[in-house]
Amino acid sequence: MHLSFQSLTDAVKRFFRRPVRAVLFAMAVAFLLLAWLFIPPSPALTEFKVGTVSNKGWTSVLNHPVDLNVQVLRVGAIQMDRNSLLQQGPQDWSERYAALAVKAYVFEHPNYGLFAIDAGFHRSFADQNEGNYNGLMRVMVKLSNIENSLTTPALDALIPVNTLKGMFLTHLHPDHTSGIESFPADMPVIADVREYDWLGKLINTDLLEKHRHWQYLSFEHAASIAPFNEVLDVFGDGSVWALSTRGHSAGHVSYLLNDTKGAVLVTGDASHFGFGFHQRLAPAAPGETNKQFARQSLNALVSFAEQFPQVRVELGHE
Ligand SMILES: [Zn+2]
Repeated sequence: MHLSFQSLTDAVKRFFRRPVRAVLFAMAVAFLLLAWLFIPPSPALTEFKVGTVSNKGWTSVLNHPVDLNVQVLRVGAIQMDRNSLLQQGPQDWSERYAALAVKAYVFEHPNYGLFAIDAGFHRSFADQNEGNYNGLMRVMVKLSNIENSLTTPALDALIPVNTLKGMFLTHLHPDHTSGIESFPADMPVIADVREYDWLGKLINTDLLEKHRHWQYLSFEHAASIAPFNEVLDVFGDGSVWALSTRGHSAGHVSYLLNDTKGAVLVTGDASHFGFGFHQRLAPAAPGETNKQFARQSLNALVSFAEQFPQVRVELGHE
């Protein structure tokens, strides 16, 4: 076929002769423009290099704990319908409208220093329902009647901010990231690489620009230790494990902290609260595939907890 400028313009004209096509085209352009305006470019990401798996069985791992001095901190509260966090919550149950805790965790590795998992609410939540959330999140909070509050000090007031070596994230939902703003902009913040998707970026626009040191965990060559399909031995000594529990978000991670004072399983929002965990009600998730992953991840966490009852389970918001 001979392609000339004339034949090309004719083809374009034919394409737009149908009004439906013209409207769809305009909508696609508008969508791309909006996406370009609101989704920030990917932050500069570097890989957080994990150690090699030191041990391939949980019984043996738990028999070799490390002094981590794990602390569980409550840094905020959220009042909302808990059923909106479940895939299939029943109509009536006693704690359906009970307040949820916002949590952060701190541990000190004897060789690598002080780390946190999740940041919890930024200090601005002490006076404002929307705290330091970005524009989109503010609108979503307003529309959904969620009540956020902070009556305790924020994480940065509870730990020595400048000695923190890094912060691991369970996921990039803003109730877990908003407090990052109070930490030095060059402190490493580490999440599964799959968390830095368009949704993760859209709900963290301001933060991704302000904070400058983002790192990722790659589960590409992760080991599989039942009941988990993808696990990383973070420091290579069996002390801290990152367990991929995706579903609730694209790259959700739970952590096993193998502390000498007792191992702690930080589920994050792979299970928000006890009712969901004990009834095996998986958390809400975007899209059918993620919903399925969320159910698999919850099942893995529950069966791990059943198999190792000596491990303390810390659920995402309880
Ligand atoms: Zn979440």
